[in-house]
Amino acid sequence: MNTKKIDLATLKNKGFLPQRQENNFSMRLHITGGRLEAEALKAIADASLKYGAGHLHITSRQGIEIPFVKAEDADKIFEEMDKFGLAGGATGQKVRGIVACQGNTVCNHGLINCPEIAGIIDEKYFGSFAPKKFKVAVTGCPAACLKPQENDFGIMGTVKPKLVEENCVSCGLCVKTCKMGALFLEDEKLKLDLDKCSFCGECISACRKAAIKAEKVGYTVFVGGKVGRKPRPGTKVLELAAEAELFLLLEKTLAYYREFGLEGERFGALLDRLGFEKYREACLN
Ligand code: SF4
Ligand code: SF4
Ligand code: SF4
Repeated sequence: MNTKKIDLATLKNKGFLPQRQENNFSMRLHITGGRLEAEALKAIADASLKYGAGHLHITSRQGIEIPFVKAEDADKIFEEMDKFGLAGGATGQKVRGIVACQGNTVCNHGLINCPEIAGIIDEKYFGSFAPKKFKVAVTGCPAACLKPQENDFGIMGTVKPKLVEENCVSCGLCVKTCKMGALFLEDEKLKLDLDKCSFCGECISACRKAAIKAEKVGYTVFVGGKVGRKPRPGTKVLELAAEAELFLLLEKTLAYYREFGLEGERFGALLDRLGFEKYREACLN
């Protein structure tokens, strides 16, 4: 039996990505939602100076890699990272690191607590099996900075506005704020066209008379999105859903993917192969 091969496979499984330079690896770390304690970041920088080439690579999915690490240093570097709660990242046929914006914990536009949602999903599913990579993004509002439509399972915070007519002075400020043309004045009376609304909530923040309130805050979900060689935009499957509904759909979606997905098939390709109706019947009823 070739033990070297087995060791390399194990290392790859723990986030050691073989480089084009022989016996050099780019060590990917498990980071959730782009959040990292400052002390952990210092430890990563120190590890790069000690075991790598003195620089780090920030990945497209909010992760960090330490390039030019040698296989023989793997145990030592894992031990040092472990002191700061850091482990190797995911590669291959797995649920990958969850990306998230800061949502309503920091951003003025945020409607949901993205780090919290990302943390719950990470704890339950990170690194678990999928027929191919399975990417999850959590974004705080329809500005969609974390591109939920480009992920296998994209989550977006949304809010349904409701007019409080008796408070409205028809100043038109919200009309100017709305980028979707969903608000307009008709005979000096404010009207809301929910068919045009993106559920961003900007009008609620803009109104100084409390004449628009949040009727419901919830989660909008896209499934089957991807970029790469054959881009496919995610299909919207939930709008303004409750948290329990969101987590149930994720559980059902992953179960469906594991049952019907072919090896190496992305979730969007599975939806296209078997038809959206089959997924709807299994997961959305
Ligand atoms: S998606 Fe919304 S909440 Fe998140 S960073 Fe962008 S603007 Fe802020
Ligand atoms: S900003 Fe407020 S008060 Fe002004 S038109 Fe809009 S809802 Fe009415
Ligand atoms: S929630 Fe956003 S899109 Fe909808 S009416 Fe208000 S500003 Fe316009």
